[in-house]
Amino acid sequence: MAEIVRGKEVFILTTNVDMQFERVFPQNSICSYQGNVGYFQCSQPCHDRIYPNENIIREMCENMLGMRIPSEPLPRCRVCGRIMVPWVRDDTFLEGRDWKDGVIRYESFLKQCLTKENAKSVLLLELGVGEMTPGIIKLPFWEMAYKNKGAFYVCMNQEDSSSPEHLKNKSLYIDGDLSKTLQDLKQIMKGKAGTGK
Ligand SMILES: [Zn+2]
Repeated sequence: MAEIVRGKEVFILTTNVDMQFERVFPQNSICSYQGNVGYFQCSQPCHDRIYPNENIIREMCENMLGMRIPSEPLPRCRVCGRIMVPWVRDDTFLEGRDWKDGVIRYESFLKQCLTKENAKSVLLLELGVGEMTPGIIKLPFWEMAYKNKGAFYVCMNQEDSSSPEHLKNKSLYIDGDLSKTLQDLKQIMKGKAGTGK
């Protein structure tokens, strides 16, 4: 993925919480809308702060008794004493400073790309988005592709996705295994770079 967009201005909006994008893209160009398992928050939450949890998780794993974790290494909130939980969307998900920061960065990136005075060619690339939360990525992407002259929408998904009629000339749908599609795309781009096309 990183190789395909190399040299372009990129921003990642993701509903994945698995930290995979962080392995290849800078943190400040990612908005983890549904949280990130790499952080803990207070389960209440009683205060607005998230905490990197890698060391705590490693310690918990080292102390496992069979399939169980003793209660001692379980992380507690240093403010209220309640248990800490992964910073991942549920009823008590903390939409605090860090979450808002991600959304603001995403919105400013869009503004910079899509406003008239800065209008550029914008590719809205949707990768493997399911039907659970269309309001976060899919529907806003449709709207942006429709409303902005320089925007084009590409949907890559395992299965056939719904394709709205009004995006007929502003969209492309590629079904199939995402890893294979991206691999093929990389090869095609390499070929083109090689022939100078
Ligand atoms: Zn607390």
